[in-house]
Amino acid sequence: MKKAVILVAAGSGSRMGGELPKQYLTLKGKPLIVHTLEKFLRFDPEMKVVVVLAPAHRELWEEVAASYNQCKDLVLAEGGATRYDSVKNGLIHIMEEGLIGIHDAVRPLVSQDTLCRTFESALKDGSGIPVIEMEESVRRLKARGASAHMDRSILRKVQTPQVFRSEQIKEAYKQAYRPAFTDDASVYESLYGSVRLVEGNRENIKITTPTDMQLASLLIASPV
Ligand code: C5P
Repeated sequence: MKKAVILVAAGSGSRMGGELPKQYLTLKGKPLIVHTLEKFLRFDPEMKVVVVLAPAHRELWEEVAASYNQCKDLVLAEGGATRYDSVKNGLIHIMEEGLIGIHDAVRPLVSQDTLCRTFESALKDGSGIPVIEMEESVRRLKARGASAHMDRSILRKVQTPQVFRSEQIKEAYKQAYRPAFTDDASVYESLYGSVRLVEGNRENIKITTPTDMQLASLLIASPV
């Protein structure tokens, strides 16, 4: 079955500080977004890639594309105000029937095993959402500074790529936006009732802060 990925890269990256959006920062000599792209092309060189860019970052992208062959001839889509809008704009560019992965461009440490599990699950059961266990204790906040212990064994942290069958995820994204739609699984679940979870990989962090960037530069050296 045909595979496609939408790399959402239209965030402003304000939590990182600095001028350059985090997806364009250099990690071991290469822009972060190129590392991410390479993970997908290694998994399936035939995969269709749609990169969703903020109009304000267009020049930055052109510079990257001029330096890295693997960035030439990709389909470009325009980012929106929210991640939801950006994904929706990316989906317009995939006409082929098959599987669609939706991935945060700022997760360059996704493993080949995670890619296998998510795409296989979507092929078999309609969706594949990578998750990992909570490694820390968690507390629920209550009124007036109080809090309560929560059972972490019933919670999971959610990663990307989140993979679906093309017709179904397109249908799900026809729903009107709701603030509860923080990822693609929540959009899909609201129409179809449930999603299928698979194991993610712990290194697959969403690079958000300068500390994440330091961690990633250590981790990127080892093949995941
Ligand atoms: O903002 P957040 O960290 O949740 O972003 C997750 C991913 O979604 C990032 O790769 C970011 O570039 C992308 N995004 C986007 N369009 C937006 C907001 C975020 O493509 N409007």
